[in-house]
Amino acid sequence: MDSEKVIARDNNYVLHTYNRNPIVLEKGHGVHAYGPEGQNYLDFTSGIGVNSLGYCDLEWAEAVSRQAHKLQHTSNLYYTAPCSKLAKALCRRTGMSKVFFGNSGAEANEGAIKAARKYSHDRYGDGRSTVITLVNSFHGRTLATLTATGQAGFHQYFGPFNEGFAYAPAGDIDTLTKLVDEHTCAIMLELVQGEGGVVALDPLFVQEVRSLCDEKDLCLIVDEVQTGVGRTGTFLACEQYNLRPDIVTLAKGLGGGLPIGAVLVNDKIAAGMGPGTHGSTFGGNPVVCAGANVVLGRLDERFLAAVREHGAQLRAGLEKLPHVTEVSGLGLMLGVQFEDGIQAADVLAACRERGLLVLTAKTRLRLLPPLVVTAHDIERALVILDEVLCGMDPLRP
Ligand SMILES: *Cc1c(COP(=O)(O)O)cnc(C)c1O
Repeated sequence: MDSEKVIARDNNYVLHTYNRNPIVLEKGHGVHAYGPEGQNYLDFTSGIGVNSLGYCDLEWAEAVSRQAHKLQHTSNLYYTAPCSKLAKALCRRTGMSKVFFGNSGAEANEGAIKAARKYSHDRYGDGRSTVITLVNSFHGRTLATLTATGQAGFHQYFGPFNEGFAYAPAGDIDTLTKLVDEHTCAIMLELVQGEGGVVALDPLFVQEVRSLCDEKDLCLIVDEVQTGVGRTGTFLACEQYNLRPDIVTLAKGLGGGLPIGAVLVNDKIAAGMGPGTHGSTFGGNPVVCAGANVVLGRLDERFLAAVREHGAQLRAGLEKLPHVTEVSGLGLMLGVQFEDGIQAADVLAACRERGLLVLTAKTRLRLLPPLVVTAHDIERALVILDEVLCGMDPLRP
């Protein structure tokens, strides 16, 4: 079926909650995606940080297919090896004690909020349930995670929103400290605010937040849904911040393209989450876990060193492009700010015309290439970006 028909059918029958690019993707290999008429795209979006090993990595596809032929689902009333293998690998890699598996980032964050409130309830009783999040954060689209998201634009239409959330500006420890009262149970943050414009938090602020949490016995929830699983050049971004969270959430890159979310907790939090406290029908699905196990197996120290090296290469190249005023982010999670008069959305559209797929976040261009991106792919992307930006005049938009 040709692109035009696919797009027309989608527009007729799929709820219009997304602003899609006007292209159809049919197959992919590594960093390349192909359209039905033979279009070839260099993909620096990786499905918004999901396809960590690129499209259709052979080992990943075979592990997923082998598991699908063996046993596709059991429910959580039974044990399966892929689930326990993944849980062990995640705990070993992160130093956390236990994992809960769900299906998405928002669901992982819901689980994290529940686990933090349960700890607080068990220890301090009712009424200590407020979660403080940061202004400009993004934590998901369910009602609780929308409420947790510190952007007024998301707090419309769907009310009433949940009680028990408060917001502090990133980097401002005084305001955050003043917000903490007898009702506070947790502080939740992204170390690099992804949807908020690829903004990395100040390491000093993060350490101050950890100290504040220690002092008041608050759970520190770190949302690594986008930053986790090697995206920033270490398995968790927490490692670069020398941070020990009480709860970490993962999702996007974990399954290599299959839906999975994980809530990782320390001993203190794990103790409260006994049978019946939480659940998910699909959580820990063996096919999905088989895919995630391949991703984890691949992300050894050498692989992560290559992510850091390629991140540095991409950042250095972006900084040299015309009309660029700032490059933000960590590892292979980068944001590009342009001079006034250059719109990231226009750059995105012009790149797409030339066969390069990129993202935006707020006013910035956002790049999330698959973690297997090579030096050659990066050079190619930089050449296209240079051509696009050379053709743009901020004075005559
Ligand atoms: C994408 C994202 C989410 C939401 O994940 P979904 O899988 O879309 O529910 C939550 N937090 C962060 C930091 C994200 O980037």
